[in-house]
Amino acid sequence: MKRIGLLGGMSWQSSAQYYRLINEETATRLGGMHSADCVVRSIDFAEIEALQRAGAWQQAGQLLAGEARLLEAAGSELLVLCTNTMHSVADVIQAAIGIPLVHIADATADAVLAAGLRSVGLIATAYTMEQDFYVGRLRERHGLEVIVPDQEDRQVVHDVIYNELCLGVIKQSSREAYSAVIDRLVQRGAGAVVLGCTEIDLLISADDVEVPVFDTTALHARKAVELALARPD
Ligand code: GLU
Repeated sequence: MKRIGLLGGMSWQSSAQYYRLINEETATRLGGMHSADCVVRSIDFAEIEALQRAGAWQQAGQLLAGEARLLEAAGSELLVLCTNTMHSVADVIQAAIGIPLVHIADATADAVLAAGLRSVGLIATAYTMEQDFYVGRLRERHGLEVIVPDQEDRQVVHDVIYNELCLGVIKQSSREAYSAVIDRLVQRGAGAVVLGCTEIDLLISADDVEVPVFDTTALHARKAVELALARPD
């Protein structure tokens, strides 16, 4: 089994989910006492969040690239960046290391396409919904139709992520607000919804939504284990 390097802390609430999910998936696939071979680097999210707000993406990319190098030096053979948003600097990170970065948007798109779907609604941070690194990749590389909420709904989704979910605060009123945002995406033609932020699964599950749900945290963790356990060609 390959060693998985988890670059997390963005936020730690979702990194805890990743840690549990990759161990559960490894145990399911291998049975018995098996668990994942992994290295976890969990950083202080306050620093990254401030760089995001300042629009200092290159600086954040350099910081994360340095952390990724530490994971590689610790023997990681795959890199899992435990956040959708910071995939905005995936190229900067990948350029700094000699191991593959498992891209969260690719893991998600593969699952959507495998389910025979093409049109998805995306809820995520404003950065992920509005910048091209994510929506563009889903559209151009994978041929998906991606519907994002309108400005007002994007603000609601974004604020709940940073003011509640990243702090471990789960509110029924926010669950209802998210359900209403998703309903509007479905009315606009979304045949499924992508939970494009790694904390959203703390608030919303498939039971809350009428259309199929693609949870990026679970899909990314599963893809990492699949690659870690793949037999060499
Ligand atoms: N974990 C979140 C995501 O998947 C948001 C926090 C961050 O900005 O990294 O986008």
